[in-house]
Amino acid sequence: MDKRNKNYKGLLIIISSPSGAGKTTICKKISKKDKNINLSISYTTRKKRKSEIEGRHYNFINIKKFNEMKKNKMLLESAKVFGNNYGTPIKNIIKKIDNGKDVIFDIDWQGANQIRKKFPNQIVDFFIMPPSIKELRMRLIKRGQDDLNIVNKRMKMAFKEIKHYDEYKYILVNDNFNKTVKKIIDIIKIERLQKSNLIKIRRNFNKI
Ligand code: 5GP
Repeated sequence: MDKRNKNYKGLLIIISSPSGAGKTTICKKISKKDKNINLSISYTTRKKRKSEIEGRHYNFINIKKFNEMKKNKMLLESAKVFGNNYGTPIKNIIKKIDNGKDVIFDIDWQGANQIRKKFPNQIVDFFIMPPSIKELRMRLIKRGQDDLNIVNKRMKMAFKEIKHYDEYKYILVNDNFNKTVKKIIDIIKIERLQKSNLIKIRRNFNKI
């Protein structure tokens, strides 16, 4: 149980961005640096990339299994991105946040919207922007995991995703990886304090 406050519940930390802005690496780094933050591993119907490891980057499943999970309410949120289905498993997440553990989600704006509605008081949401459109394109090409046709498609999708940046409380430009990670961790620390203070205040002054 978390020591900050016995009524403290964990945060749901959402990180969204267009693909290529560095969000996946950021999420992994944050969960490594802060042991109270657990990384949520999504389910997807997308084909596994060569660099990816089953169960570590995603749980790769077929559409039949995905629809079954959705039907059986095993997903906290789900969305279709680039024609593939993605979803966050509900299993363990509620238990973790009830025990004061924070969970970090690398998800798109559609999923962010769904989680925001379910946990309005426990969410901290970040939108990570690439330094520029030119830089985003360079990063997508350099990544080399998709062919040029897909890079172009992802650029188009990136513009659609970027349109949602102002739905997020914190918007950061990832022009320096270590600095961006540090900023996010600092903000999380402040949000934890603020949320656990609110719990104390409500408890102590609820009779007024
Ligand atoms: P990629 O296939 O490049 O790993 O991810 C494509 C997009 O899907 C990214 O914007 C990523 O954040 C998003 N995504 C990954 N997992 C989930 C999920 O569980 N739910 C939602 N809504 N989006 C996800």
